[in-house]
Amino acid sequence: RAPVRPADSLLHALRGAPADRTALSYFDGRITYAELDALTDSVAGHLAARGLERGDRVAILLQNSPHFVLALLGAWKAGAIVVPVNPMYKSGEVTHVLKDSEAVALVCSDRAWESYLRETAVGSSVRIVLTACELDLQTRGDARVLTFERLEPAADADDLVTVARQGAKAPQGRAPGPSDIALISYTSGTSGTPKGATNTHGNIMYNAERQRTGLGLPEAPVYFALAPLFHITGMVCELVACLTSGGTLVLAYRFDPGVVLDAFAEHRPQYTVGPSTAFMALAAHPAVTPDHFSSFQVISSGGAPLPPALVEKFRAGFGPYIRNGYGLTECTAPCASVPPGREAPVDPVSGTLAVGVPGPDTVVRILDDRGAELPFGEQGEIVVRGPQVVPGYWRRAEATAETFPEGELRTGDIGFMDEQGWLYVVDRKKDMINASGFKVWPREVEDVLYAHPAVREAAVVGVPDGYRGETVKAYISLRPGSEADPDALAAYCKERLAAYKYPRQVEILPELPKTATGKILRRELRSRQ
Ligand code: ATP
Repeated sequence: RAPVRPADSLLHALRGAPADRTALSYFDGRITYAELDALTDSVAGHLAARGLERGDRVAILLQNSPHFVLALLGAWKAGAIVVPVNPMYKSGEVTHVLKDSEAVALVCSDRAWESYLRETAVGSSVRIVLTACELDLQTRGDARVLTFERLEPAADADDLVTVARQGAKAPQGRAPGPSDIALISYTSGTSGTPKGATNTHGNIMYNAERQRTGLGLPEAPVYFALAPLFHITGMVCELVACLTSGGTLVLAYRFDPGVVLDAFAEHRPQYTVGPSTAFMALAAHPAVTPDHFSSFQVISSGGAPLPPALVEKFRAGFGPYIRNGYGLTECTAPCASVPPGREAPVDPVSGTLAVGVPGPDTVVRILDDRGAELPFGEQGEIVVRGPQVVPGYWRRAEATAETFPEGELRTGDIGFMDEQGWLYVVDRKKDMINASGFKVWPREVEDVLYAHPAVREAAVVGVPDGYRGETVKAYISLRPGSEADPDALAAYCKERLAAYKYPRQVEILPELPKTATGKILRRELRSRQ
């Protein structure tokens, strides 16, 4: 096993980097390493002075802004467990997370506090509230204008930036150890009610270290935070990996393809990671040119299937090769990725792109329904053991025992390994379509659709069918300026897939529903029936 670096090495890194080097870059503003260290000390001191104890939970509902980083590092310096919450959550979803985690402190935007969170927090365990001004991008005439909305400071909340600047001292002796829980990460809910995975500081440091080493990036690399920081991929592969390498993290609030492309042109980032849907959106933007990507040394895709056709279109159109990576919240982002400098093979039979190879300390096995290990090439459930696998779910003994038998993670994904050690993800077990008793994996059909020039996004689901039990239906969104009719798309698939696999129904939507992390929500499409 590779040594896990001390859990507080992220906090040490703030002091280790040259004091005046830029840690965070944000539209017109920047924060140096020395400033970040002092500001987060002050947030920690404030939380402790307000009675926050080691191990208490701090919920953070913020977009990719410096405020998110101040709150996160401040909470960790105070010895707290952070609960990152998707800022797109509605009141009921936030209530579930606050209640389940028993959060003592809440950090959110002024606007969210005023509009619904104050009411949501009533009756919860929250006693400390920090708010930050909301940033908004508005279109005025032809221009995109950045506005900061600073509401009147609420009487029942403290302003995060004022707290950070007041110069309080961080409480002593609260530095977390590797086995302490750093985060309770609620799964994004594509499969039901979110459960909180308990990522330890050891899990995070291990995976961040594995992600950043070997990428061949220069000293003090510039990272662009494309994935949201509240999601484990953004947190580990962007925020922690960047700051532990003394790099600059460029933040652009939330994903807006035009703003992201402008930021690429201005900051010339060398690394980014995002879901494949983000790359599809960037590639489809009318202003995109290969020059936008010329500064990148590595681009990674993670957290969602990567269609081989997108990799090819992207390389042909813009230059960079998109490197695949596979992981779950429960294994603290990736457990397998494509080693730098190599390219993932495509399985000749299924046309699936490999997601990568497991790390040196990570054991990936493929099991059949009875738990027996399957040989190379055979499809079964992917299970993972390694230093990035979380100890379990927050206060859910039963779900923990079911998903992590003897510490091994049952992913619920179907996949296979080839003889060279490449891992392939076929699809999610629960997304399988049973058409007249034949197994159809949505991914295989989607990969075919993505190769069609007019298709921007594709998602395939099973819909009830009186004759076949279930039949295959495809939802499509088209590339700007493209035209295609549903029958022609069905015919295109019929030429390339077995009769039971091709979509007998095709529906074109302006956009497919997605989670805030950019994953297409097949569940929502299924419920349209
Ligand atoms: P929930 O667990 O509530 O459904 P979620 O699945 O979106 O939410 P995550 O932990 O973010 O939560 O997602 C992990 C899943 O994403 C994996 O189980 C897998 O199905 C999918 N996934 C991640 N990376 C890849 C990849 N490279 N290729 C294919 N699928 C991937």
